[in-house]
Amino acid sequence: MLDYSIEPEFQAKLDWATEFVRTEVEPLDLLFPHGGDPYDTRNEKARAILKPLQDKVREQGLWACHLGPELGGPGYGQVKLAYLNEILGRSYWAPTVFGTAAPDTGNAEILAMFGTTEQQALFLQPLLDGEIVSTFSMTEPQGGADPKEFVCRARQDGDEWVIDGEKWFSSNARYAAFLLVMAVTDAEAAPHRRMSIFIVPAETPGIEIKRNVGAMDERDELEEGIHAYIRYHEVRVPLDAMLGGPGDGFKVAQARLGGGRIHHAMRTVGKCTRAFDMMCERALSRHTQGTVLAEKQAVQQFIADSWIELQQFRLLVLNAAWIIDTQPHGAARTQIAMCKVATAKVLHDIIQRAVHLHGSLGTTNELPLAKWWMAAPNLALADGPTEVHRTTVAKQLLKKYKPADGLFPSEHIPPKLEAARKRYAHIINDDSLAGGVNA
Ligand SMILES: Cc1cc2nc3c(=O)[nH]c(=O)nc-3n(C[C@H](O)[C@H](O)[C@H](O)COP(=O)(O)OP(=O)(O)OC[C@H]3O[C@@H](n4cnc5c(N)ncnc54)[C@H](O)[C@@H]3O)c2cc1C
Repeated sequence: MLDYSIEPEFQAKLDWATEFVRTEVEPLDLLFPHGGDPYDTRNEKARAILKPLQDKVREQGLWACHLGPELGGPGYGQVKLAYLNEILGRSYWAPTVFGTAAPDTGNAEILAMFGTTEQQALFLQPLLDGEIVSTFSMTEPQGGADPKEFVCRARQDGDEWVIDGEKWFSSNARYAAFLLVMAVTDAEAAPHRRMSIFIVPAETPGIEIKRNVGAMDERDELEEGIHAYIRYHEVRVPLDAMLGGPGDGFKVAQARLGGGRIHHAMRTVGKCTRAFDMMCERALSRHTQGTVLAEKQAVQQFIADSWIELQQFRLLVLNAAWIIDTQPHGAARTQIAMCKVATAKVLHDIIQRAVHLHGSLGTTNELPLAKWWMAAPNLALADGPTEVHRTTVAKQLLKKYKPADGLFPSEHIPPKLEAARKRYAHIINDDSLAGGVNA
């Protein structure tokens, strides 16, 4: 039984969140619009607005809804989270206000799953409390999608690990209190056992941010983007800085990615809905050649196609969420990969139409659409390129099939027709009945 229903008590919370995000959170997007602003814990003005908003979210029991009760969250499950994230997806700041901003969510999850009690006290608790932010430092300049290309190393020297190498696109490193660094600890081991993850406090000597790269939607911040190109120069951390065991790096990294991908998809439903609302308002407002845009058939097709794609995508996301909630860990792997592939495409296609219907205004910095549109390539790459996830989907689906027994496909008509004739031979060959069968 598929069940995506919401009980009235939670609907009341969603209604509260809708109004709260519109009136109290969306203004932050305008006042502090840059990519790094929600993560900059040193911006006192932004924090002075943020803190009371976070308190209101806590009072509503909606803080860190991705977490179970053992970690201080309400543990509502993914279906409810999907509905909430649709609301949060409308605003860049909302995930920070509600304690569900990536990459801290995924980093918190792996600290909870693999961290020692001491690591959790030092790094997890302040992260969950929203006091600090963190970085996941995995991708390298020469290779991202294929971890077998990674060469940043960590060698043991007495009672320390020494990390040496480069990392690329370590988001938010300039604001982070600590970095989770993936490094090769045994180059001779099997590919998935070569790496380990280390918790590295940001003040550790030897961390050099070579530059902070700006992604496409951060073009107005060309001087300083938020994705750090880092050189780790013989960075020394104690032996107990390892998260998980030696060689567990790949397993630990995988554990944080599923949640991150589906949460991006949930928020994308919200962003696309906001773009769709804008598209419809524009269609009813703008006159050309004697009618409003809404009366042009081409515009009607834009609207219909966008809504159909959005509803298909929303159901895909809810279905993945429901499987995560109701089936054993890992059962939603294919559905999450499907959502990951669809996220960037749906965002791109719907926002492209919304930009287009707004004409020149749509392309400007006077509407949010152009910036959202520029985020589509990010969503197709962050947490792995689309192609890799398509491959996952295909491989999982193909496991349910086997090759044809003979030279021809199992749906080949001649042998099936022969079998059909045999099956009903007593009727087909009964000359007392009328009707013909192909010879
Ligand atoms: C906004 C954003 C934030 C990010 N944040 C972080 C972060 O915080 N920490 C971090 O470590 N990394 C981060 N990344 C990096 C991200 O994980 C990588 O961009 C991603 O894994 C792809 O790696 P790459 O960029 O090196 O591309 P490549 O691996 O060079 O891939 C480039 C292209 O090659 C093709 N390709 C690659 N592999 C395959 C394949 N198996 N089959 C078919 N085609 C393939 C695809 O077209 C792909 O887009 C972020 C990226 C973005 C865009």
